[in-house]
Amino acid sequence: MFNATSAPAGGVVLDWRHATIGPLAPCVLCGLPALCRSPVKDTPCHKRCAEAWITSHATSPIHLAHLIAAHSARSPNGGA
Ligand SMILES: [Zn+2]
Repeated sequence: MFNATSAPAGGVVLDWRHATIGPLAPCVLCGLPALCRSPVKDTPCHKRCAEAWITSHATSPIHLAHLIAAHSARSPNGGA
């Protein structure tokens, strides 16, 4: 039986469709040049770096969901 409510381990996928692009600047997580800006903090950051950071810092499924929500852009329309 599948458990559809639990996030797969290492399967963090952030919704950064609304993330902006800026000049190349060091990623705040890995230090390599990044074009992508965090939609929440507006800092240079690779989406995959943010996803990896969340995966490594989450201490529980609830904490994981909280981190994902905290680092995803809020959609004003509530959906695509
Ligand atoms: Zn990075």
